[in-house]
Amino acid sequence: MALIVQKYGGTSVGDVERIQRVAQRVATTRRQGHDVVVVVSAMSGETNRLTALAQEISPRPDPRELDVLLSTGEQVTIALLAMALQAQGQPARSFTGAQVRILTDAAHTKARIQAIDQAPIREQLTQGRVVVVAGFQGVDENGNITTLGRGGSDTTAVALAAALGADECQIYTDVDGVYTTDPRVEPKARRLDSVTYEEMLEMASLGAKVLQIRSVEFASKYNVPLRVLSSFEDGPGTLITSEDQVMEKPLISGIAFNRDEAKLTVMGVPDQPGVASRILGPIGQANIEVDMIIQNVGADGTTDFTFTVHRNDYPRALEVLRGVAESLGAREISGDDRIVKVSLVGVGMRSHAGIAGRMFDALAKEGINIRMISTSEIKISVVVDEKYLELAVRTLHEAFELEKAPAQLT
Ligand code: ADP
Ligand code: ASP
Ligand code: MG
Repeated sequence: MALIVQKYGGTSVGDVERIQRVAQRVATTRRQGHDVVVVVSAMSGETNRLTALAQEISPRPDPRELDVLLSTGEQVTIALLAMALQAQGQPARSFTGAQVRILTDAAHTKARIQAIDQAPIREQLTQGRVVVVAGFQGVDENGNITTLGRGGSDTTAVALAAALGADECQIYTDVDGVYTTDPRVEPKARRLDSVTYEEMLEMASLGAKVLQIRSVEFASKYNVPLRVLSSFEDGPGTLITSEDQVMEKPLISGIAFNRDEAKLTVMGVPDQPGVASRILGPIGQANIEVDMIIQNVGADGTTDFTFTVHRNDYPRALEVLRGVAESLGAREISGDDRIVKVSLVGVGMRSHAGIAGRMFDALAKEGINIRMISTSEIKISVVVDEKYLELAVRTLHEAFELEKAPAQLT
């Protein structure tokens, strides 16, 4: 008998019929003799609907109240799923984040889980019940409801699996695994049987929203075997695990992309020490996170400085830069919020040269202009115009033959 944590995303609990189907899947796992803890998201579209309601009242709603509002979506689905399980003769009980005491810090809308009290869950399991826990939410030490950021139910599930020492954490969603790239952009994308925590973390950080970044961090830190599967059909899914357990080590495991990027350039600043910090200091003070950074080689005593931010922060970042342009002695501030980042990810890259060249060559042949480049040991990212996103993803998918099963590295 194993202990299994199953998480069902918004589409999987999108209507009553689907909730009943989830209940069947859960009950089947229970009948096989396993203890089951289920984490559910809000019904699809619900978190967006609630966010839009808040926006109608205030462009920047009070984060504490926003969390009270957003957490209601998951409270609806836990109750409905518990009812559906009971209707099928399977004893079950629902719990909000606060009830199982998923303790988080107080950073509303992006809280981090600090501790989970496993006693109430264990007690229910001992009594033969399925435990249904609301994803995406917790409670801070003062009893305020918090939420974990978009996609946070994945993190609830993995954190619960880690706390309970579960045998597997299964993430049921609307695709049947992790693919070489988003199958909605490249229909020829191939499902991966397994992928390393490190690669998955990189893919999630670079925009693959199939798993929340924090959930992969948790899984890696506590060595939780994590599997992404379809809630609509049976299949093996994709196992996310440590490098020594992964048999395939392809050169490139996948292509991730991020549509939420914008870039800003400060032109003609004096080429002297302290410029970067005088540009990025005020950006940091405005709570704007910076992603890629490029500073040109100076010419005529001046240089250009370019960086990217989340597209939502673009207007504010532009405002901040315009405010400091004069004191920086900058000639001009410019920006572009119609850019995207496309990245190749793979641990196999570590030991192979020439990948960047092959990537740039493939993009050049399609006339795609690269605006920025950044690399690390296991990824290469390029910034290109938004209109080239699909073409760039498909071009790279083909250039690196990702539709084919990988040749083993020797
Ligand atoms: P859920 O509501 O179940 O949490 P999400 O929408 O958060 O589901 O995540 C699943 C989606 O992730 C898929 O529908 C797919 O479009 C997207 N996705 C992005 N990159 C990938 C990838 N590499 N493999 C599989 N799915 C991906
Ligand atoms: N309901 C939340 C969201 O839409 C959390 C989740 O689905 O994981 O982001
Ligand atoms: Mg999700």
